[in-house]
Amino acid sequence: MAQTHSTQSLDFDIDSITGDARAGQLIINDQTLETPNLFPVLNFYAGGTQRSVYGGGVHRTIKEFMIGADRVGTDPLSEYFDAAMTSVSSLTDYNLTRERYEDYLETPIKERELFEPFSGLVFADSGGFKFLNSDEMDGSDFEMEMNQETVFDIQQSLGSDIIVNLDHPIAPDDGHEERVEKARQTADNIHEFLSLSRDFEGALYLTVHGYNYSMIDEFLDVLTDEVPEGVIREGFDGIALGSLVPKKDNRGALITAVSDCREVMADWGISDWPLHVLGISSRAIPLLAALGADTFDSSTHLHNAINGKYNYSMMESVPIDDVDFSRCDCPVCQSDELVDRMKGNAEYQKDILGPVAMHNLIIQKRELAEIRRCIHEEDTNALVDYFEDRFSRDKTMRRYAHQVVNESLGGYF
Ligand SMILES: [Zn+2]
Repeated sequence: MAQTHSTQSLDFDIDSITGDARAGQLIINDQTLETPNLFPVLNFYAGGTQRSVYGGGVHRTIKEFMIGADRVGTDPLSEYFDAAMTSVSSLTDYNLTRERYEDYLETPIKERELFEPFSGLVFADSGGFKFLNSDEMDGSDFEMEMNQETVFDIQQSLGSDIIVNLDHPIAPDDGHEERVEKARQTADNIHEFLSLSRDFEGALYLTVHGYNYSMIDEFLDVLTDEVPEGVIREGFDGIALGSLVPKKDNRGALITAVSDCREVMADWGISDWPLHVLGISSRAIPLLAALGADTFDSSTHLHNAINGKYNYSMMESVPIDDVDFSRCDCPVCQSDELVDRMKGNAEYQKDILGPVAMHNLIIQKRELAEIRRCIHEEDTNALVDYFEDRFSRDKTMRRYAHQVVNESLGGYF
């Protein structure tokens, strides 16, 4: 049952398969990530200086937990940062000076002493989603054209372990011609990306766009008209399925896109490549893991916190004012000082909401460990039971959970 997909840059060992779900290890640059797993979105550089852990409000507090800074008073919570997603486009959010921009890119993230406790896999996306409408990075005293070369330079300077080509994501109302044109533009970038990244130390994921089998299959057809299939097979290590952000709350659409993408991968003979799903809501994670997605990135832990929501489980969140903190044994909720802050006793919003975001992330990471445990069981029963336990009382999710159990886990016994 075990399968391995090995390239120069990556080993992907699948050691358990149950239904369509799979679990294993993704090994890049000697770092091992258990899959399926979550890359939480994290802005390592967010306008500030080293003294403020490079800033970022709630992002800053999350980084303080990651490194165990005095301000949060916990040990480094590195175990929850075995992976992180950082966006090239996040650098455009902070109106940087050129000097600061250059300072950020001077040293790779994991070579900075400040981030020493962090050794997780860094995935840097291309910002394609953001640069679609404006292809410039606006600093306070400089502007820069964002093209394949600049994006690659940034990804490499950050010391990323996984990167993607600069893509042209599709939108739900794009017509057929427009989608084909975007696939051609993405293909143009791929030529350049593969030549720029020849000496890159890390894994290259190919971005794939489409909402269903025929769209994804056609995307690959257009791509391979422009770039020989052999070059794509040789050059890339994994697949990143994108363009799903506008559909992230539409569970049915997500299920179709991910299960169809797995089918296309099987038909193209690359089913053993790792599949990452870009930009999803964490509530979709169990469904996508059951469909055979290996990794995903999400900012739900942050968004929930910013909206005043504390997660009791991956599925259930409650307003902070109603929380019984004693229910949680995570290092955040075990600290009287941090509980006091979460109750609103702090001067800055980031000190109230940052610990909530960290707690939310811990809940998600623990839930993923449980999903992996179920996949590693001998048959589909454990995962089906897990779905039953988590979704049977959840009116909005139940229907989709049943669909996934029936289509991907062999149905109920
Ligand atoms: Zn907690």
